[in-house]
Amino acid sequence: MIRDLVKSDHSILHRRINPCGVNVDRHFISKTLIENMFHHEGCGLSANQIGMDIRAFAMIRDIEYNDVIVCFNPRIISRSDNCVWCEEGCLSFPDQFINVNRPDKIIVKYEDEDGKDHKITLSGFAARVFQHEFDHLNGIDFTQRQ
Ligand SMILES: [Zn+2]
Repeated sequence: MIRDLVKSDHSILHRRINPCGVNVDRHFISKTLIENMFHHEGCGLSANQIGMDIRAFAMIRDIEYNDVIVCFNPRIISRSDNCVWCEEGCLSFPDQFINVNRPDKIIVKYEDEDGKDHKITLSGFAARVFQHEFDHLNGIDFTQRQ
């Protein structure tokens, strides 16, 4: 199901989204996030960006291999000291591109749609997308990271 992106001043983008329980249809949410991420042509999409009050996002982990993951209840366990600047875009702010400084490497935990726990290391592009989407779930957007 294709959903509209909420406007950048919508309250759902400006508050912390609560942890996601097991009483929601995670397979449906996962499918919806992936479908909308590709429809809106993003490399990541948080549920709240399409008006869903769910602590989850979809992201492309590797563009070359078309590797997509959906992360429920994501956490950042550790961040490298090495930070890098990179220009970011955001589906919620279609005409803005902002240079943001972020750790280059992170270790993260998340649950998948089956409730299984994952712990992975991300670097470069994937680390950046994860941190950008993770911010969305905490009510933070990239204009606050300038
Ligand atoms: Zn964004």
